Amino acid sequence: MEIDFLIIGQGLAGTAMAYRLEQEGQKVILFDQAEKNQSSRIAAGLFNPVTGKKMVKSWIAEKLFPELESFYTELERVTHKQFFIRKSIYRPFLSIEEQNEWMGHSSDPVLDLFIEKIFTESQHDEIRDPFGGVLLRHSGWLDIKTYLDSMTDHFGESVKSELFEEELLEKDGEYWKYKGLRARGVVFCNGLDALKSHYFSFLPFAPVKGEILEVQQGFDPDWIINRGVFRVPLEDGVFRVGSTYTWHDLDLGPTESAKNELLSKLENLVRVPVEDIKSHRHGIRPATKDRKPFLGKHPKEDGVYIFNGFGAKGVSLIPYFSAMMRDFILHQKPLDTEVDIKRYFKYI
Ligand SMILES: Cc1cc2nc3c(=O)[nH]c(=O)nc-3n(C[C@H](O)[C@H](O)[C@H](O)COP(=O)(O)OP(=O)(O)OC[C@H]3O[C@@H](n4cnc5c(N)ncnc54)[C@H](O)[C@@H]3O)c2cc1C
Repeated sequence: MEIDFLIIGQGLAGTAMAYRLEQEGQKVILFDQAEKNQSSRIAAGLFNPVTGKKMVKSWIAEKLFPELESFYTELERVTHKQFFIRKSIYRPFLSIEEQNEWMGHSSDPVLDLFIEKIFTESQHDEIRDPFGGVLLRHSGWLDIKTYLDSMTDHFGESVKSELFEEELLEKDGEYWKYKGLRARGVVFCNGLDALKSHYFSFLPFAPVKGEILEVQQGFDPDWIINRGVFRVPLEDGVFRVGSTYTWHDLDLGPTESAKNELLSKLENLVRVPVEDIKSHRHGIRPATKDRKPFLGKHPKEDGVYIFNGFGAKGVSLIPYFSAMMRDFILHQKPLDTEVDIKRYFKYI
């Protein structure tokens, strides 16, 4: 069968890439082993314009956030499902100095875009926020399971739930052949499996393990609370609490130490006891050494591409960069040098 592109992986990256190409009339086939997914199907799905200990604007947030809103709402219309959940994020201040700093931030036009309100006093008896906090907008979470399952249904027979065996991929003139399929190109959106790939294992991935809990707790404001740990309201008094970051123990499953770390950070944020731990999961983020994604074409093989390395922020990075990648593949537009894998060609 003649097609345009083979897409390897239907996590957040492969899903967006396939949709972008399909929108331009390209015939795609996706290979995915959802049950082996290590990242998208574990993730909390948060999108948050202000991140890190120092609470600074996320990298290029002013470009990413308008794109992610329009992308996921378009896909909600296409699939007739709801998975894009807008919710303000409340970040308590740690000191009066921080409160003052944030009052100053309101005059920064870019940061102000993301500030809904600044509070100088505690907002809830249940939250440990003696200095008040900042309420952020253009934030929320993506219900990733619903999103990915809806998109699998949308792609229909174009998704093959089977292992893609890279060693069976063969060059055929200007085309690539794989088990009876002939494609113009192959886009690897295979997350950390890229480390085993003959084509892209030279790229410096830096996998980061994360653990996440779902807990029952009797305090249900209409906000995500985030400081050291995030607490996302789900349904019926259940909250998702995460995530840890570790660069070792990648092969171990969920650990007692990560569970205790999350519970202790949650206690520092909210004064209400945890009634029950509903689940405890772990995954590995496909992060990169320079914390920038990997986009581009293989240095020698025409038609072989990678769209990967979205680390801890796939939900917010992928809508914007999948449009850039589509324009690169189909319209020969250049990629931003910061994300182009050419930055590593000198190390091959
Ligand atoms: C605990 C945790 C919490 C997180 N929280 C957030 C968050 O709140 N917000 C956020 O934006 N990001 C979060 N992330 C990060 C986010 O999950 C990633 O950025 C994103 O999911 C990466 O998507 P991906 O499609 O590149 O990779 P993956 O999700 O790993 O997808 C790759 C897919 O390719 C398939 N595949 C690979 N090789 C083959 C093969 N040979 N044949 C068939 N299929 C194959 C895999 O099975 C998998 O389904 C979190 C991650 C973790 C682990």
